[in-house]
Amino acid sequence: MKIYKADLHIHGPHSIAVSKTMNLDTIVATCRHKGLNIVGTGDILQPNWQKYMENNLKRENYGLVYKNIYFILQTEIEDSESIHHIVFFPDFNSVKEIQDELKPHSKNILNEWGGRPRVNLTPPELVDMLDEHGAIIGPAHAFTPFKAIFRQDRYETLEKCYQDSIKKVFFLELGLSANTDLADRLGCLKDVSFLSNSDAHSEHPRSLGREFNQFEIEHPSFEEIELALRRKNERRIILNVGLHPKLGKYYNMFCSKCRRRVLFKKNITSTILPFSNYQITHDFITYFSENPEKSRAEYINQVSRNKVICPACKEQVGKSYKIRLGVSERIEILSSTKTPQHPPHRPPYINAIPLIDIIRAVKGIKSTSTKTIKKMYDEIIKKLGPEFHVLIDLDIQEIQKYNEKIALIINAFRKDEIEYLPGGGGTYGEIKINI
Ligand SMILES: [Zn+2]
Ligand SMILES: [Zn+2]
Repeated sequence: MKIYKADLHIHGPHSIAVSKTMNLDTIVATCRHKGLNIVGTGDILQPNWQKYMENNLKRENYGLVYKNIYFILQTEIEDSESIHHIVFFPDFNSVKEIQDELKPHSKNILNEWGGRPRVNLTPPELVDMLDEHGAIIGPAHAFTPFKAIFRQDRYETLEKCYQDSIKKVFFLELGLSANTDLADRLGCLKDVSFLSNSDAHSEHPRSLGREFNQFEIEHPSFEEIELALRRKNERRIILNVGLHPKLGKYYNMFCSKCRRRVLFKKNITSTILPFSNYQITHDFITYFSENPEKSRAEYINQVSRNKVICPACKEQVGKSYKIRLGVSERIEILSSTKTPQHPPHRPPYINAIPLIDIIRAVKGIKSTSTKTIKKMYDEIIKKLGPEFHVLIDLDIQEIQKYNEKIALIINAFRKDEIEYLPGGGGTYGEIKINI
């Protein structure tokens, strides 16, 4: 058996808001920097992207390859309930058969912008149709507040969503703001395998490969990946690596309009009136309470019943907009236990910080795309090896020789001593560092 690092969910340039420079060469370059061996094609049902992939991917070693990086035919589909699913196909034949079957149910599948097609089928209908043509499907970014199976006011279990077709669903994608510790608080997920994928809209190393799975399989092929997801014939995922959930865009609860995130802090002089003592800043609404944990729990309960109005919008524009749950609070509402109950098959999960973010912190630069940042990133990869080797495996002293501050942060990250400003409402979280 061999070990492969795989990021199985990306998008092509025919999805909205995807980098125009996303192509096989730029994807492969980032995979090499990251140390990835397998990547999803993204958007494989979109006709132009499909043709481009068909013309360039070669069959080799049971898989599809371009310049030593293996590809899995993959797309994301939105169903009639606005739930996103991630789909893997065994071959181009199956892709084309499914495209034909979906055509009558979709207005945008053949469009220039049909990268992530919306189809007028319910979750069980979609599962049955894909299964008939040998493709496999599971919920994408399962807990995000938009377009996800477990979003607020949607499903509470996989069974309720997929009904009798649940037998054909055996994996789920965690999404950037969740990890195994959060997801395994839902008892109903104990039998599914978890995927951690980037959902990249750009080949930039801050995006592509920021989450990946380490597979133990025989070949870099669809068949082997399917066996691993089903945990059959000793094939399996042996490690998930993903953003620290607080760095994700949807970790924390937020206002549906102004997108401020809601936090609770301790203040012993706080009034007794609930939720009357707060401070509004550009990005946050912070409530003060004598017992912030208790107040927060009560608040989350009310938010989950759509009962909480954003105080910032009320004060500043005189309008009422609802506060909505982030991934962490939604999981609290759905959870059966306070602590995660990992089933024996669950692999370890590493909460990672992208190297680009570490460089930004050291340089004190907010943007992810300045030349200084990219130059230092490329230099580190050249001198020290692929990103995940540097972040996870490389001896700290070796990193110190290159840069003391970078070594300091990577060391703190490995010991889980980093403080985070949680992301939410579409804004990524940040690491808090004083160096
Ligand atoms: Zn999606
Ligand atoms: Zn607001």
